Amino acid sequence: MAVHQIIKMGNPILREVSKELTKDEIVSPEIKKLTLDMWETMEHAGGIGLAAPQIAIPIQMTVIRVPIESERYPDADESDEYVIFNPKITYLTEETQGFWEGCLSVPGLRGFVERPKRIRVDYLDQNAHPQSIELSDFLATVFQHELDHLIGKLYVDRMKDISTLTYDDELNNDEG
Ligand code: ZN
Repeated sequence: MAVHQIIKMGNPILREVSKELTKDEIVSPEIKKLTLDMWETMEHAGGIGLAAPQIAIPIQMTVIRVPIESERYPDADESDEYVIFNPKITYLTEETQGFWEGCLSVPGLRGFVERPKRIRVDYLDQNAHPQSIELSDFLATVFQHELDHLIGKLYVDRMKDISTLTYDDELNNDEG
């Protein structure tokens, strides 16, 4: 396994629409190894999700796991472990919710972002099997943030009020 360098906002790869993988590619040894590298890179950085474009590989792949004790998101509930390929989002409500989002590719900053509160995500798992999950609350935001990386979007693009862009150490801890 290897920790990869995480690229930052300004790198054009973060603005690309990533390429879908075939089922054969998903189950290949290269992608198995990349999956392990992505978990290791995400954990090393203290993140709760990492999309392949963030390590300069523009493919439709992301890993997500909210740990029981997240330093960056201390109020968040623990989640399952997800390895996601070729995802499609369906919005299940127009009701939105807001969180202070951060991004490993936008280090040191947080911004307040409102997104739909309930979504369905259809995707292929590590065995290239189709899966469909419904998500709500914080995990719905985490998925929308990560899936945005696969279409070249960053959370700052989703902010309604850019004046909420804040350095981590200026943000009151109670707000997460
Ligand atoms: Zn991000």
